[in-house]
Amino acid sequence: MQEVPLYTGDLDRELAVVSRNRMAEKVTGGLSITEKMPCPSWGIPATRCRLGALLAKKEGTVCGDCYALKGRYRFDKVQAKLEERYKGLFDPLWTPAMVHLIRWCCDRYFRWFDSGDVQGENHLQNIVTIAEAVPDVQMWLPTREAETVRKVGEFPPNLTIRLSANKIDGKAPDWPMTSVVRRAGGEGYACPSRTQGNSCRACRACWDRDVENVVYTLH
Ligand code: SF4
Repeated sequence: MQEVPLYTGDLDRELAVVSRNRMAEKVTGGLSITEKMPCPSWGIPATRCRLGALLAKKEGTVCGDCYALKGRYRFDKVQAKLEERYKGLFDPLWTPAMVHLIRWCCDRYFRWFDSGDVQGENHLQNIVTIAEAVPDVQMWLPTREAETVRKVGEFPPNLTIRLSANKIDGKAPDWPMTSVVRRAGGEGYACPSRTQGNSCRACRACWDRDVENVVYTLH
């Protein structure tokens, strides 16, 4: 698996470069607007998930029932756009390009990975660099890559890393902010999206660092 390059460039100088001629969109593939989310998001194909792609082959796992492998996500056009975003990760200007887009398009919130997951330590470290450059935007990053998260270790306050349980009805991972998928109920904050038209509306629990565990109901 190809390693994402660690960003070590001059952010201020390269921000000026990516802000011209829509270069930030060309490098990153742009951001998504989904019906559910109150803010822009960014993602890559779920088939590129390092751990998730393995889990998806196993019954009883959350990845085995992944929404990003079903529905509109299966359209060729959607997959081509997600793959374009994956390829953008290897561009040396990806980090400044994402900073530019988030500054330009986001008001208060941003979501990482409406599809896909972190591609290793360098990728997560680049995301930390991006979060530090946009401290007024609160970011939610759901992930199953616990080992990568623990290796990077420290995160700015505007980057909510929420570790997800791998198994349906499984235990929440050992981490301050987590999420689980349950057939019914369970301890934690119950995601209300199903009762509000599959939309977050005013809820921001997934971004909220004071919400320890979010419970999604299996559908
Ligand atoms: S818990 Fe709230 S913020 Fe998270 S997905 Fe559900 S509705 Fe959206």
